[in-house]
Amino acid sequence: MSEDSQRNAVVPVLVPTPAERPYSYSVPDGLSVEPGAIVRVPLGPREVAGIVWDGECDGIDPKKLRPIAEVFDCPPLRPEMRRFIDWVSAYTLSPPGMVARMVLRAPAAFDPEPLVEGLRVTGTTPDRMTDARRRVLDLANDGLGWTRSGLAHAAGVSSTVIEGLRAQGVFETIQLPPRPVVAAPDADYARPELTVGQEEAANRLRLSVAGKAFAVNLLDGVTGSGKTEVYFEAIAEALGQGRQVLVLVPEIALTQQFLARFHDRFGARPAEWHSDLAPRMRERVWRQVAEGGVRVVAGARSALFLPFRDLGLIVADEEHDPAYKQEDRVFYNARDMAVVRGSIGGFPVVLASATPSIESRVNAGQGRYQRLALPARYADAALPAIHAIDMRRSPPARGGFLSPLLVEQIEKTLARGEQSLLFLNRRGYAPLTLCRVCGHRFQCPNCSSWLVEHRFRGQLVCHHCGHSEARPEACPECGTFDHLAACGPGIERIAEEIDRHFPEARVIALSSDLMGGVKRLRLELEAISNGEADIVIGTQLVAKGHHFPNMTLVGVVDADLGLANGDPRAAERTFQLLSQVTGRAGRTGKRSQGFLQTYQPDHPVMQAIVSGDAEAFYQREIEERRKTGLPPFGRLAGVIVSAASRSEAESHARALRRAAAPSKAIEVLGPAEAPLSLVAGRYRFRLLVQGERAAEMQGFLRAMLAAAPRPRGSVRVQVDIDPQSFL
Ligand code: ADP
Ligand code: ZN
Repeated sequence: MSEDSQRNAVVPVLVPTPAERPYSYSVPDGLSVEPGAIVRVPLGPREVAGIVWDGECDGIDPKKLRPIAEVFDCPPLRPEMRRFIDWVSAYTLSPPGMVARMVLRAPAAFDPEPLVEGLRVTGTTPDRMTDARRRVLDLANDGLGWTRSGLAHAAGVSSTVIEGLRAQGVFETIQLPPRPVVAAPDADYARPELTVGQEEAANRLRLSVAGKAFAVNLLDGVTGSGKTEVYFEAIAEALGQGRQVLVLVPEIALTQQFLARFHDRFGARPAEWHSDLAPRMRERVWRQVAEGGVRVVAGARSALFLPFRDLGLIVADEEHDPAYKQEDRVFYNARDMAVVRGSIGGFPVVLASATPSIESRVNAGQGRYQRLALPARYADAALPAIHAIDMRRSPPARGGFLSPLLVEQIEKTLARGEQSLLFLNRRGYAPLTLCRVCGHRFQCPNCSSWLVEHRFRGQLVCHHCGHSEARPEACPECGTFDHLAACGPGIERIAEEIDRHFPEARVIALSSDLMGGVKRLRLELEAISNGEADIVIGTQLVAKGHHFPNMTLVGVVDADLGLANGDPRAAERTFQLLSQVTGRAGRTGKRSQGFLQTYQPDHPVMQAIVSGDAEAFYQREIEERRKTGLPPFGRLAGVIVSAASRSEAESHARALRRAAAPSKAIEVLGPAEAPLSLVAGRYRFRLLVQGERAAEMQGFLRAMLAAAPRPRGSVRVQVDIDPQSFL
């Protein structure tokens, strides 16, 4: 046996398991595999799909290994993608196989799509000509292949006409390639006329894409400034190069408007990628992305793990959005990983936001990102005038949550025939129910959280584990009837209050637990855009990115809600959310206003929103982070230890802490019981690891985990690099 075939007889294969490294498999005679190939391999009693990995398996006797069962007829995963998997794995401290698993989530796509049966003219003339037959032949004489239904449809005839012609030998049956999931976008389809400011930003983006090298552009433009129009020009440039483009959006299921706008600009839709896709569609998109036929994907964070053949640009819209963070199995931030993907692939990345993350602003300030500012709204649209309502001075009426000042504004808006939005980031009717006689509070049996009343459904629901129970008539503790009190508002309760004030108004209340799921949500959002509602009451679902032409008033029911939760990003998050939600008003030039109901009108966040001086807020917040060494000036990691019993969780968390090596650059805080100390029956403890910017956080954590005892029994350890949640 020659040197070479000896080496190829054993290959490493990354399989979708928590193993720390690829496994070795033998290559059967006559089979040839290259790195990146997708293969079927035995694993224990089953067979799984894996990826042939880079590197060599020296010194292993192939006879002692199990052989690869099949090499799929599928484009191999590009080297950039393999490096990306390794990178994400090392950064997030997740086993590489678990990252690979995110790539391999469309199993039926590893086999080619079946060919489609089609028809082609043979040159034989039909026995007699009818109008219908002539229409068919006029089309089919282009000599290309047609599907039966496509031809019948285009010619406006029934399929019997086609079948009759086929029976006479006018058509022959041929095999056509599988249909593309979306038509090809045309970069020149409808070029918009950009304003001077937009054109300048678009030009710099075009140049960045033309450079075919890694660069990060921060497109920082106020709500309604036309960021989408501008980054579409970057997409057009990448399409002109013949490359693929990925547009990440934080909540794809809600971005019908985005898809429609993309269609208006490029004459075709992008392929969608998100958890709501039908399985068959998922597989076709995956396959066609791998083959390069799909040119543009608009997707949720998991689209980063699609097997692009020639990715040339990533746009992350609303880059500050917390929904980019995945906190399940592999904890990663898709915005940050998009930048990594660009750097590995050697192409530019565009981050767009009206309220960029502090991290991105600092990166721009330090020259690592190019910042492109769009400080004014498109056309004559002015930003809404924002006012704080001091709730201590203008409190709501008894039993209500809306200040008379806000109610008056809603009334005026109604009278003008315009739309109002009331924003409250809380689903359901009331966040807490208690007994007025004995003080009993309804708590989730599996979690350390209160049950939220959903009055419409007559249920008390846990928002952490999904537990639900019927709302009883009597207190389960003291037995008293009719003395349960709902404390605090959710959007259902605000809807009830609005109904008391404005019984005639058309009201739409929207949150993620709307019956009828995403489809219904899309319809409702469309109805709002079409002006079919007078008053909209909603959670953050309505705050994000939507364009509601007739909306001129936004009222924030509880502007203080996000400020008090001990999260180092509380001020930033509140600023972003309040800017976004008030930014829904006045997008088509009508005079518009925003009102913030607050008990802290002097808080810097409220001041920043009211004055419109975002810059002052950013400078202050950046300075604050610098002083406290918080990200991006320092590094953070969370370690969450959970177990079926409190003592197991606590003792393992303590053992981890003891296993941490002393370090000048890194400090371990805790363990402390997590604020959400019990979730779905599991007790939780947290360690917070804080390091200097230059600290080798991953190495430190890896050493700590290795030195600690292995988690046993029900104990689970989860590392969260760059945590966003501290619950
Ligand atoms: P942003 O994403 O910055 O909030 P959008 O891209 O949604 O802003 O633009 C706001 C509105 O202005 C949209 O309806 C968009 O179609 C319109 N618009 C922006 N720029 C232009 C332009 N150059 N020509 C025509 N319409 C534009
Ligand atoms: Zn629960």
